[in-house]
Amino acid sequence: MPQDVLQEILLRRGFLCPSYEVYGGVSGFYDYAPLGAMLKRNIENLWRRYFVVEEGFFEVDTPTIAPEQVFVASGHVENFADPVVSCRKCGTTYRADHLVQERLGLSSVSAEPEKLQELINEHGIKCNCGGELGEVARSSLMFSTGIGAGGRRRGYLRPETAQGMFILFPRLYAFYRKRLPFGVAQIGRAYRNEISPRQGLLRLREFTQAEAEIFVDPAEKAKHPRFAKYAGDRLRLLPRDGVEVVLSASEAVRRGVLPHEFLAYYLAHTQRFLLELGIPAERLRFRQHLRDEMAHYAEDCWDAEVKTERYGWVEVVGIADRTDYDLRAHERMSGAEMKAFRQFSEPVVRRELRLVPEMQTLGPEFRALAPKIAEKVRSLGERAAREFERTGRLEVEVGDERVVLTERHLRVEEVELRVTGEKFTPHVIEPSFGIDRILYAVLECALSEREGKRVLRLRPAIAPVKAAVFPLLAKEELEKLARSLFEELRRQGVVAVYDASDSIGRRYARVDEIGVPFAVTVDFESLENGTVTLRLRDTAEQLRVASREVPELIRSLCSGMSWQELRERLEAES
Ligand code: AMP
Repeated sequence: MPQDVLQEILLRRGFLCPSYEVYGGVSGFYDYAPLGAMLKRNIENLWRRYFVVEEGFFEVDTPTIAPEQVFVASGHVENFADPVVSCRKCGTTYRADHLVQERLGLSSVSAEPEKLQELINEHGIKCNCGGELGEVARSSLMFSTGIGAGGRRRGYLRPETAQGMFILFPRLYAFYRKRLPFGVAQIGRAYRNEISPRQGLLRLREFTQAEAEIFVDPAEKAKHPRFAKYAGDRLRLLPRDGVEVVLSASEAVRRGVLPHEFLAYYLAHTQRFLLELGIPAERLRFRQHLRDEMAHYAEDCWDAEVKTERYGWVEVVGIADRTDYDLRAHERMSGAEMKAFRQFSEPVVRRELRLVPEMQTLGPEFRALAPKIAEKVRSLGERAAREFERTGRLEVEVGDERVVLTERHLRVEEVELRVTGEKFTPHVIEPSFGIDRILYAVLECALSEREGKRVLRLRPAIAPVKAAVFPLLAKEELEKLARSLFEELRRQGVVAVYDASDSIGRRYARVDEIGVPFAVTVDFESLENGTVTLRLRDTAEQLRVASREVPELIRSLCSGMSWQELRERLEAES
């Protein structure tokens, strides 16, 4: 199918259009028109079914603007930048890695400016205009803003929804009653000031992410509690070494292609979701990031990629092991504890040194402050006791005061402690979905042709409009019945359209093109016996069903019942 057919349908039939069109457009921004917005919402809701309902990850909603500290801590201020290179002659700016990749016909390339510079020099890569390219430099991808009057406090628009969830960790840990693993999910906008966004929905400056953060004890990463569910799912994997393999999830872990069950589980879960959206298995693979391609926070990362006709293999989901990077970073920056507690199977007895306050000297010397000093001293651990043993001096802050304590005020004692567990920083596994890219891939995979006409084979569960109702001819008695069926569908929560103009063939073609999976036609037989025809978009096959059953049937067909099952049921009834 020619590449621009899809674009033309999406624009003409109200799915998508470039933003700020009347002002000449701004690249990297798209509007979802009515059908597109509905399709997007349906994809998000299916994602919710997979992650929020099935996995039990509660959803949160955090702000899109954050103060600078958040992204200094997360490493984005320092690291979240793309390599760029400009032409010395015409001034065009390119993403250096994309330019090199395209010119050398490589499937991936390092993002390191030095390496890219070497490749540009070695292969004599020039600008499209023939001009010499300048030095490869890094350009930040974050949009900055000012918070408050005069914008005094620097802030950034979030480049991923994730940080809002990491910062919330202490609250979430309490919410989940201090038990790991647990997950949290968020669907929301993310912003990246992409260098030269020329790929429609694939590279936007404002886009929608659906992310899950799964907090796990690193000692328990090897085993996922529900791994059996997906152990046999076959995954097409392209590891870093470049040799593609197709393995079951369990085999992939056993052979060490995937590092642990947690990552394997979410690869398989992601695959099920993408298949349910209608992306065929043969257009799907998981590619491991090269070491120098990986984001600054990741230890390992696998992208779910879909083979598109227009753009080749496209990353739609990134599944990363972010380790304890983010929680440690926010703990360091904010001072708030971002740790969990691990219970030992049996308590461990440990002998440790502790500081003991001498109240006889503390009391008379420090009076009202003495109990507070004692409390502070008792809260200190072995390290402080050893330091005191060495120096004979301890400085503590109590309220606004700073006091110096010596051997007259304190003594060191060895105590026996029954330790029941220990604190640790959880690791995070993150499946991060780009909803816009997924939507594009779904549309491309759904577009097909029958007898010279376009048919958008969107799965019923995500199709924006579920049913079309037609009177066979523009006769009053047919229209009356068709209208009442249309109203009944809407009353029962089925998104439907009504159309009485043109020939029935043209009406079918119109709704096929926007992916309406079922069409209901009211004809003269309907007036006699209360039955209507129900037509399946994908094959144009028709079944005769009782009009009053239509809303319930369409609801079932949109939530899992197959056409085949319906046909068999009707045959059994007749
Ligand atoms: P990343 O954090 O880069 O792994 O991004 C997570 C997901 O967001 C990717 O798999 C993409 O699907 C999506 N994504 C990233 N950047 C963009 C963009 N500029 N436009 C649209 N989607 C994006």
